[in-house]
Amino acid sequence: MRAVVYRGVNDLRLETVPVPRLAAGELLVKVAVCGVCPTDIKKIQHGTVPPPRIFGHETAGTIVKIGAGNSSLVTRHSSLKIGDRVALHHHVPCLDCHFCRHHAFAQCATYKRTGITAGFEPAGGGYAEYVRVMPFVLPGVVKIPAKNSFAEGAMLEPVNTVLKAVRRLNLLRGDAVLVAGQGPIGLMFTRLLQLAGARVLATDLLETRLRLAKKFGAKWTMLVNSRQSTVVGRRRAMDRGLATVDWPLKAVDAAVIAVPSDAAVFEALARVRGGGQVLLFAHTKRDSNIQHSTFNIQLSTICLDEKDLIGSYSSDFTLQAEVARLVFSRRLDVRSLISHRFPLEQTAAAVALAAQPTANSLKVMVRVPADD
Ligand SMILES: [Zn+2]
Ligand SMILES: [Zn+2]
Repeated sequence: MRAVVYRGVNDLRLETVPVPRLAAGELLVKVAVCGVCPTDIKKIQHGTVPPPRIFGHETAGTIVKIGAGNSSLVTRHSSLKIGDRVALHHHVPCLDCHFCRHHAFAQCATYKRTGITAGFEPAGGGYAEYVRVMPFVLPGVVKIPAKNSFAEGAMLEPVNTVLKAVRRLNLLRGDAVLVAGQGPIGLMFTRLLQLAGARVLATDLLETRLRLAKKFGAKWTMLVNSRQSTVVGRRRAMDRGLATVDWPLKAVDAAVIAVPSDAAVFEALARVRGGGQVLLFAHTKRDSNIQHSTFNIQLSTICLDEKDLIGSYSSDFTLQAEVARLVFSRRLDVRSLISHRFPLEQTAAAVALAAQPTANSLKVMVRVPADD
């Protein structure tokens, strides 16, 4: 089969590899689409894990084979059968360990194991024609209703990560929440926060995204630019204040930083009311730290003002059914978030676009022939 193999930093190659062989109780899924996720981009561009690997973990496709011998492993978890259209989750927590009992699923040892592969060290495998789904991630397999597309199924995993983060916020109906950055993730935040009864102030550098933010339920939108504002400002603009921007609100109850900008964090901490929360969602690079030449965090902000600086990473398995209902009912309509679909052989271009978004790009997907 054809697969896009990661061979080193920024080196993705279309290769021919064997179709994965199944052990008892495993599934072979013919991939239809796979979303390009920032966490994979980070690994590809920074070489944080050794090659070779086949990335891609926001995968949807069709079950074409079930490993013989112990198919009760499959049926025990669900009524999965050959021909089912499914969305996959590449990791699933044990729900039983110390971390899981604290609801810190992303820290669970079982969760850290990737259970889907197209070959080599398991890494999701979605950038290939077929993937092998191991028994321990079968609880993460979700059937896609006939009326929904594979692409909608492939969005379950990112939507889950966003809903998990929304649940980390202590919100009352009517609370004002800043969402900094209106890329596909920021737009999902805007919509899910609106559904939770919050009033959302959406900011971005791009007017096109603010228009979409309105459609996704933002009450206010604010165009910021890297010169006058630091809300989604770039590093070089960090020493400029925010004072030049007219804020529609004195203070917000919470802020979600859906863009990897340190300046946005500092600013959000200043803008959040006492007792409010600032949630980091895009600061996934290990080398980020909060020492900065022009900004620093007064620890009294945390103590005296009781502002919480929190983070959220990855998905919450216990929200899976709710996420499926939100997406498949289209209360959160993810279709308009998908702006580009590249064929498998152009995966490198898909990754490049997702890494350097344009005014018109949002979620980028790789599709494998026989897509819907
Ligand atoms: Zn992802
Ligand atoms: Zn666990």
